[in-house]
Amino acid sequence: MSLAVRDAILDGERVSLRCSEGKIDALGSGVEPEPGDEVIDAAGMLLCPPLVNGHAHAAMTLFRGFGDDLPLMEWLRTRIWPAEERLEPDDVYWGARLACVEMIRSGTTRFFDMYWHGTEVARAVADTGLRAVVSAVLIDGLDPQRGETLREQALESLEALTAFGGLVEPSLGPHAIYTVSSESLRWIAEVASDRALPVHIHLSETEGEVRDCVEGHGVRPAFYLDSLGLLGERTLLAHGVWLDDGELELIAERGATIVTNPTANMKLAVGGAFRYPRAAQRGVGIGLGTDGASSNSNLDMLEEAKTLALLQKHEAGDPSVLPASEALAIARGQRSELLGATPLAVGEPADFLLLQPDVPELSTGELEADLVYAAHGSVVDSAVVAGRVQMRGRELEGAAEAIAQVRERAMRLTG
Ligand SMILES: [Zn+2]
Repeated sequence: MSLAVRDAILDGERVSLRCSEGKIDALGSGVEPEPGDEVIDAAGMLLCPPLVNGHAHAAMTLFRGFGDDLPLMEWLRTRIWPAEERLEPDDVYWGARLACVEMIRSGTTRFFDMYWHGTEVARAVADTGLRAVVSAVLIDGLDPQRGETLREQALESLEALTAFGGLVEPSLGPHAIYTVSSESLRWIAEVASDRALPVHIHLSETEGEVRDCVEGHGVRPAFYLDSLGLLGERTLLAHGVWLDDGELELIAERGATIVTNPTANMKLAVGGAFRYPRAAQRGVGIGLGTDGASSNSNLDMLEEAKTLALLQKHEAGDPSVLPASEALAIARGQRSELLGATPLAVGEPADFLLLQPDVPELSTGELEADLVYAAHGSVVDSAVVAGRVQMRGRELEGAAEAIAQVRERAMRLTG
């Protein structure tokens, strides 16, 4: 399985690229295809690294446009939770398949997911050919006894996720500190440490969560997690809106990553913005995510990068905060080792995008600024993951079927 890309543009230079066995073998001006290579004639398309979605609930494409414009708790209680009770494993599979289609079409080749029936998400990922870190989810409703009975299930789910191999990686997904007991969180910390697994958790999304944590445990959320052994280099904290300076310092010290989700935060009006300047100053690992399609409502990481940059500038009252190049680096996963960015270089994984050069959004100006401020995911023409072509000329296999499946299933779940 080898692939050659001819005559793409990289940093203003015409280059070609060859990859085999999932890695980039050669990249430069004199690179030629070899016999047996699948060849893409890029003809002046722009070659660039792909995007990494650091926080998603992929299968929630099933609930897109369902219960929008409601307060968070009302939306969860009256819409999402009742609909989720009707979820069948196959629904999750097709919801995640559609998310994979949407992510490839907008330039994302790797994502971090947390949702029910993780093995179905993994199956969708494996059938599509993306990379994903998929969680074995544990939610005990703050009942340690229930948590104990769920441990076996979590371990089984972990085994099943591990068995996928290839581009699917397992992780542990305790939903949040207000839905998982400290006993279960401590157990998860032990399993994660024994098996060197990432832990994906929502943290400090609302002010109420911080207040409850201080009342219940006497410390703010990041310190609480740390006391349970859950704050380390493989910890991914989704949101982190209400973290104070002391917490950001602790997170930097422990090497954990905060994945910010500005669109979902603004849409659900969580009342604040992730304190990016403070976090960046302290050297915290930072990533970007879309959150689920029901609270965003798309999975377009270029749009998310724009929202991130604009929100931070607006918050700071300073347009020089978070320039386009930095927003793009964050969206590519380059500001956190845990997120696994794939640079365009020989020996690195063959994950890359080809962008249409002749579109209005990219017609003048600096490419990075245009990508963040002007373009959407629709400028992506072709996407390659681990040396395999996932999309070419915006065509990808199985897209129509995934749309039809989700449309029908969403009607049953939300009707
Ligand atoms: Zn989330």
